[in-house]
Amino acid sequence: MIKPYISVVIPVYNEEASLETLYHRLTTVMDSISKPYEIILTNDGSKDRSSQILAELHQRRPEQIRVIEFNGNFGQHMAIMAGFANVRGEIIITMDADLQNPPEEIPRFVEMMEKGHDVVGSYRMDRKDSAWRLLVSRLHNKFRTWIAPNLTMKDEGSMLRAYRRNIVDLMVNCDEASTFIPALAHTYAANPGELGIKHEAREAGKSNYNFYKLIRYNFDLVTGFSLAPLQWFTLIGMLVSLLSGLLVVYMLLRRVIVGPEADGLFTLFAFMYFLVGIGLMGLGIIGEYIGRIYQEIRKRPRYIIKNILQKKD
Ligand code: UDP
Ligand code: MG
Repeated sequence: MIKPYISVVIPVYNEEASLETLYHRLTTVMDSISKPYEIILTNDGSKDRSSQILAELHQRRPEQIRVIEFNGNFGQHMAIMAGFANVRGEIIITMDADLQNPPEEIPRFVEMMEKGHDVVGSYRMDRKDSAWRLLVSRLHNKFRTWIAPNLTMKDEGSMLRAYRRNIVDLMVNCDEASTFIPALAHTYAANPGELGIKHEAREAGKSNYNFYKLIRYNFDLVTGFSLAPLQWFTLIGMLVSLLSGLLVVYMLLRRVIVGPEADGLFTLFAFMYFLVGIGLMGLGIIGEYIGRIYQEIRKRPRYIIKNILQKKD
């Protein structure tokens, strides 16, 4: 078997409707590059016919198409990570299975990599997603720029990206229980580049991210790449203590000058609720980090592979 030069890694979750088109468009583009390549598809516990279709695609091109079957749903980033752990190529391309990233853009990524970049990110021009999905993404990007300003990327949710093998190996060796691949790669990149790419409406099916999943996803990014929320909490705590200290002095002076007073009960309630709210939020933020520390020290497997369909070397 010839060693592949390019490895394409694709996470698949309930994508039965797009896999056939994906196969045709992707193999056409990859064949046109005329370099040896492989395509690794991770089935992330799909509940539809994706598994059968993937097995069939492997049959069609056993040399090039390899399928990793997960034992359950471990999430998009873990599906990509499992692909990373099994790549044989030098240049690794990630993309979504739903064809929102046109495979026809891949040659531009290969070209950029050959110019010497070790990571080539992307941003979606003229994005075709639902209005609320766009809004969540925009807020997410704003928030991320604010809390982790060293992650200089325009659009971390854009998953058509290219990585050099050494970067991929570093990510695999990271062994974190939860991660956010574009951000992780960025922390290792010596010479990152970025490309604007076309974006298409989903071929078929619907987005796998609901509001709750998107929020969890955001927490992965925030807690995984920044300690800023904890530091803000210390700052807010210090500010609140300072203000309460001033309030105590003021109240003592009033007590001496005006005498005892009992008005302002509801103002007091409002203050208390506000402070209790801040306190609870702080506990939540600490809890979020502690939960992740707990996850890490348990060292449970990040994902479980049921089987791999591939031609033996
Ligand atoms: N995906 C996955 N596991 C999941 C959710 C999604 O492997 O739990 C895959 C999905 O099949 C697709 C990619 O991740 O290839 C992006 O998912 P989706 O299109 O639903 O997200 P969106 O485009 O709305 O961000
Ligand atoms: Mg999508």
